Amino acid sequence: MKQKEEFMMEAIKLSIEKMEAGFGGPFGAVVVCDGKIIARGYNNVLATNDPTAHAEVDAIRKACQALGTYQLDNCELYTSCEPCPMCLGAIYWARPKKVYYGNTKTDAARIGFDDQFIYDEIEKPLTARAIPMEQLLADAAKEAFDRWEAKVDKTGY
Ligand SMILES: [Zn+2]
Repeated sequence: MKQKEEFMMEAIKLSIEKMEAGFGGPFGAVVVCDGKIIARGYNNVLATNDPTAHAEVDAIRKACQALGTYQLDNCELYTSCEPCPMCLGAIYWARPKKVYYGNTKTDAARIGFDDQFIYDEIEKPLTARAIPMEQLLADAAKEAFDRWEAKVDKTGY
């Protein structure tokens, strides 16, 4: 087996082991940097009552902690399933150089993990979404943005 396949097998192994142990859904992910696994993530939604505890987010958080950075420029992410919109967002914020996936989002929908409705929501105007969104205190909220713009010692990312 080639190295890429070995890394994916580790993500798949996590997806099975942690699901069987009751942590959450059947999803695993690993972050690889310089040919080595530096973080292992898995779905932990049920065990932690955390709806954001998806495998990719878990792996990204652990990898960033391990490297002491908020960017994964030289890393690759291997995930047992094509990322949901939340994880896709986290991946773009973390900026790994490549993502490998096993199952597709269509495969996930077939077993009850259908995130297509979130992709559909993104396309809709705010007022037409299933969860209503309303703007409040825009002027007061802008204060933080003005201060960020004026901050001389900020770290851009
Ligand atoms: Zn996700």
